[in-house]
Amino acid sequence: MRPDGRGETESLYFDYPHFEPPSDRAGLTRRARVAIVGAGPVGMTAALALAKEGIASVLFDAKASFNDGSRAICVARQSFYILDRIGAVAPFLEKALGWTTGRSFYRGRQILEFDMPESPREKYRPMYNIQQQFIEQYLWETIEREPLIEARWQSEVTGIEDTSDGVTLTVRDPKGGYDMAADWVLAADGARSPTRKMRGLRLKGENYEGRYVIADVQMNHDYPTIRRALFDPDCRRGGTVLVHKQPDNIWRIDYQLRDDESTETAMAEGEVRRSVTAVLSDLGHDGAWELEWWSVYSANTLALDDYRDGRVFFIGDSAHIVPIFGVRGLNNGLADAQNIAWKLARVIAGRAPEGLLDSYTPERRGATLDVFANASKSARFMTPPTEGWRLMRDAALSLALTHPFAGELANPRQMTPYTYADSPIVLPDESGFEGGPVPGAALPEARVGDGFLSDLLGPGFNLLTFDPELEGLAKDDLTIVVLQAKTEAESALGTGPGVTYLVRPDGHVAARWREASPEAVRAALHRSIGGDEP
Ligand SMILES: Cc1cc2nc3c(=O)[nH]c(=O)nc-3n(C[C@H](O)[C@H](O)[C@H](O)COP(=O)(O)OP(=O)(O)OC[C@H]3O[C@@H](n4cnc5c(N)ncnc54)[C@H](O)[C@@H]3O)c2cc1C
Repeated sequence: MRPDGRGETESLYFDYPHFEPPSDRAGLTRRARVAIVGAGPVGMTAALALAKEGIASVLFDAKASFNDGSRAICVARQSFYILDRIGAVAPFLEKALGWTTGRSFYRGRQILEFDMPESPREKYRPMYNIQQQFIEQYLWETIEREPLIEARWQSEVTGIEDTSDGVTLTVRDPKGGYDMAADWVLAADGARSPTRKMRGLRLKGENYEGRYVIADVQMNHDYPTIRRALFDPDCRRGGTVLVHKQPDNIWRIDYQLRDDESTETAMAEGEVRRSVTAVLSDLGHDGAWELEWWSVYSANTLALDDYRDGRVFFIGDSAHIVPIFGVRGLNNGLADAQNIAWKLARVIAGRAPEGLLDSYTPERRGATLDVFANASKSARFMTPPTEGWRLMRDAALSLALTHPFAGELANPRQMTPYTYADSPIVLPDESGFEGGPVPGAALPEARVGDGFLSDLLGPGFNLLTFDPELEGLAKDDLTIVVLQAKTEAESALGTGPGVTYLVRPDGHVAARWREASPEAVRAALHRSIGGDEP
C-alpha cells in the first residue's frame, strides 16, 4: 500500500515504465519453441538463459509494468553468477549494496555479530541488497537487447491445453484474444500462479502463524549496510524487527505483529507511521523520513510435489513459496530458471535426450526442501509458533547476553548453494580427494592471473583440468580449461597433476577425477545430459 494521495506506482525512488500490448498482430499466433508465462525476475532470467543457449522464447506478462511494492531485496552471491552468465550483471554491480555482516540484539543489547564468508578470492560479495524493481529493470534492459526474446506485455495467459506435440495457450490482451501453440511452457507466473490452477495442481506444505508488516522508508541515515535483527526491542515488546539498508536511501523495516493486533488496524497508514517512528527512534534516528510502501506478510513453506507437468515446467514462486527470513524466494527462483534453461535448450537442439528434463524436479525441489529445513528454523526463531517455542527462543536469547555461543542460534543465514548430490545426472564421487567441491556442488571461486576461475569458463560444459593431455577433448558444448599447479585454483580444487572437474553449464560439478581418462570424461558427459548410466 502507498500513502494517501500517492498513485499505485508512484514511488519515491523508482520510475515504473508503462508497456503497451503488442501492436503488430500479424505474427501473434505463430508457434513458439518456448512460451514463458510471467515476466517477473524468474521468467525474465529463464528467457535470457535460453537466449544465451540460442533458443528463442515468447515471454508473456499480464501487467503493463514491473512488480511494485516491497519485495525481494537480498540477492545472494550465487545469483550474481547467474546474472553474470546471462549477461546482465554489470548494472547490478553498480547499484547493489554488498554486505557481509548481520547483528542481532536482544532487548537493546547486541548478542551476535556474524560475518558471511568473504575473501579476496571471491569475485562477488556474499550478499547484495537491491530492490526487486531494479532487478526487474536491469533484466528487462538486457532482454531489450536480445533479439531471441519476444516480450508481450498486458498479455494474460488464460488457458493452457495439451496437444499431441505441445501445448496451446489462450492469451487475452486489451486488443483481443488469440491462441498460440508452443513446444514447451515455463510457468513463471508467481505465487498465485494461474497456470498452476489451470493444470489443477496445488502447493503443499505449512503456513506459519506470525504476521509481519514490511515497510520501506526513505531517510538519510549513516548506518552501514549491516542487517539488524532486534528481538524483544523497546519499540515492539515480545516481537521481532528486521532492518535492512537498500540503494537510494531506502530502508526496509519488518516488524512482527502481536497476536492481539488486528491486521486491519496495523495496516492503517497512521498506525504504520506510529510503528515505524517507534522502530526508528529505537535505532537512534529522530530525523525526517518518508514512507514508500507497506504490506503484511506471513511465512509459508509450500511447494509442488512435481515441478513438471507434461510439457509445462514450474519455476520460481509458481513452484514454491519460502519464508522471506531465508531470503531465498527470488534466489531460489533464479536457480530454477538457469537449471531448466540449460536442460531444455539441449533437448530442443537435439543434443540431449528428453530424459534430461526429468532431473529438473529432483534437483530444484531438493534445493527447495533444503531451504525449507533451514528457513523453518529461522521462521520458528523469528515468530515462535507456540508458547513452548517462545520459551525456548527467549531462553536462548537471554543466555546469549552472557554466552556468545547461544547467539549463534539467532544466525539466520543459509547461503551456500545447494549440492545436487542425489541427482540422477551427477556422478558418484571418487575417493581420495582432500577438499575441493564434491559432485553436485557449485564450483568454488579462485583468483587466476588478473581475473577469476569463473572468468575462464566457456559456454556449455567445461572441463577444468591440471592435465594438459586432455586438451584434445574440446568439442562443441565442451570447453577445456587447463589450470596451473601451485595456484589458488589448485587449492580450491585439490592437488594432483591429473585432477579434473567436469562442470555443468550452471556452474555445478557433474563429476571429478584424481586422474581422468578421455573415456571417463566422455561417459560422464553423456550421463550429465541424461544419457544412460556409464
Ligand atoms: C516482502 C517480500 C520480501 C522478499 N524478500 C526477498 C529477498 O530478500 N530475497 C529473495 O530471494 N526473495 C525475496 N522475496 C521473494 C521474491 O520477491 C519472490 O520469490 C520473487 O518475486 C519470485 O519471482 P517470480 O518471477 O517467480 O514471480 P513474480 O515476481 O510474482 O512474477 C510473476 C509474474 O507473472 C505475471 N503473471 C501472473 N499471472 C499471469 C498470467 N496469467 N499471464 C501472464 N502473466 C502472468 C505477473 O504479472 C508477474 O509479473 C520477498 C518477497 C516479499 C513479498
